[in-house]
Amino acid sequence: MSKQSILNESQFTKRYIDSLNADIILIKEEDAVKCLSVIDDRFWILKESIVANTALQVMLLNKLREKFMDTKLLDILVCPLCKGSLVYKKIEKELICKRDRLAFPIRDGIPIMLEDGARLLPPEEEV
Ligand SMILES: [Zn+2]
Repeated sequence: MSKQSILNESQFTKRYIDSLNADIILIKEEDAVKCLSVIDDRFWILKESIVANTALQVMLLNKLREKFMDTKLLDILVCPLCKGSLVYKKIEKELICKRDRLAFPIRDGIPIMLEDGARLLPPEEEV
C-alpha cells in the first residue's frame, strides 16, 4: 500500500482525485465538506472531536459565563434597592449601582445581589 499526502485545498479537484492511484483516501471531515463534489467510494472521512480535560472545561465554562455576563444577564439584572441599571466591572468581578454607590460581587460567575453582601464604594472611587 502506498501513502500519499494531499497538501493543500487547491488539489481538491476531480482531475487530481481521479489521478490518484489509491484504494483508500483518508480525509478529515473539515476538508471533506470542501470537496463534496469529488468524493467517491474510496474516501474514508475522519470525524474530529475535541476532548477537553477538566481544567479546560472549567476555563471554557468561565469564559462562557463572562460572555453571558457581558450581554444577556446584564440586561435583566437591576439593583435590588433602586431597580436601576448596573455597570459590569469585568476585572473587579462586580456589578456597580452608581446611584447607590454599591458594588455587588460576582462569585463563581454568580452575581450576589444582596445589600448585605455589597461593597459600599468610597467617595474617591470612580464609577
Ligand atoms: Zn441602586
